[in-house]
Amino acid sequence: MMKCVPLLSRSQLHKSAGWLLTAVLLLLSTPLQALVLRGQLQQGGMVIGQTRAGVRIDLDGQPVRVNKDGHFVIGFGRSHPATALLTLRYPDGRLLKKRLVIVQRNYAIQRINGLPEKKVSPPPALAKRIHAEALQVKAARAYNTDLPWFFKPFIWPVTGPITGVYGSQRILNGKPRWPHYGVDVAAPMGTVVHAVAAGIVRLAHPGMYLSGATLVIDHGFGVSSSYLHLSKILVHVGQRVRQGQAVAKVGSSGRVTGPHLDWRINWFKTRLDAALVAGPMPDTKTAN
Ligand SMILES: [Zn+2]
Repeated sequence: MMKCVPLLSRSQLHKSAGWLLTAVLLLLSTPLQALVLRGQLQQGGMVIGQTRAGVRIDLDGQPVRVNKDGHFVIGFGRSHPATALLTLRYPDGRLLKKRLVIVQRNYAIQRINGLPEKKVSPPPALAKRIHAEALQVKAARAYNTDLPWFFKPFIWPVTGPITGVYGSQRILNGKPRWPHYGVDVAAPMGTVVHAVAAGIVRLAHPGMYLSGATLVIDHGFGVSSSYLHLSKILVHVGQRVRQGQAVAKVGSSGRVTGPHLDWRINWFKTRLDAALVAGPMPDTKTAN
């Protein structure tokens, strides 16, 4: 039977039992090489790992932050190949290379042809603004804060019908658009948005062209959450927030058709599937 080194207290584990049902547990047998991975080994998944103190880790050749207790986090993007290479370097110099199998997913692809060209490409002046705003979001997601807020299971920021999913993509006149990386949850204008985990606010922008009022919260180790199309932001850059804190209100700012929350989880540049990472949405009256 597999043995798991718990990363959470018993009560936290109990609370997250549903989430753990989808978790993958992996333990390498020799005690000196102990490695436990918990999460989703699939495209869009986030995996929390634990190994021995002092071990250095690379994922696909990139160094991964490991804390003094041997805890770390890794994530897999929308198009991650079918395997990933995790390299562990032990303090005594031994090297362990572990090939991880990453489950491949199918995404909804919608092809629309015969559209007028101006509906497909933004005018150059707008393209410049969109690019500048994307750089601000990128910078907000680049923090590598040594605080482990992401170890605690995430909560949903709002509840309601899911109207958009991770990974879907439209191909307009044969040109692939950016895939949709968020989870869209329909909710009335002004509905309170809760922080999915504790963290530090890194971006609180009142109005970007595409995403409208946009909030990014840093949860440590490169894990961040983004909240788009808000009508109001209730926190400021640099502010510490706790899990569940009211941080914003649902809106329809930016390029949208109606009020909803588009929320995302990122691991540095890698966009993860927030619905997968947070687990099933809790039952609510509004979710009918
Ligand atoms: Zn969306």
